[in-house]
Amino acid sequence: MSAEGTIRERILKLLLQSSRPLSAAEIATELGLDPRRAERDIYEHLRHLAKTVKRRVPGYRIYMVPPTCLSCGYVFSNLDKPRKPSKCPRCRSQRIAPPRFYLSRE
Ligand SMILES: [Zn+2]
Repeated sequence: MSAEGTIRERILKLLLQSSRPLSAAEIATELGLDPRRAERDIYEHLRHLAKTVKRRVPGYRIYMVPPTCLSCGYVFSNLDKPRKPSKCPRCRSQRIAPPRFYLSRE
């Protein structure tokens, strides 16, 4: 088994066990990784994992709570893929709450 496969399985297990949505930084921390360095990779893993769950785990999906601007409340509801936007398009603030992820029934 590849290391990639292993880390995705660990992320899936974390989402299964968590009672609340988790951010990429929280997932990285739980996995013993440096959240600042691993955040981008975690988003990539989540993107793949969402596809895997859709294909192989009937009845379940990985959902994303969209990022929001902490200054004006703007919701980034139409992101093409999971990531943390750097700036709010409405008020230009950089205080953005990152997206959070959870596993749930469809
Ligand atoms: Zn804003």
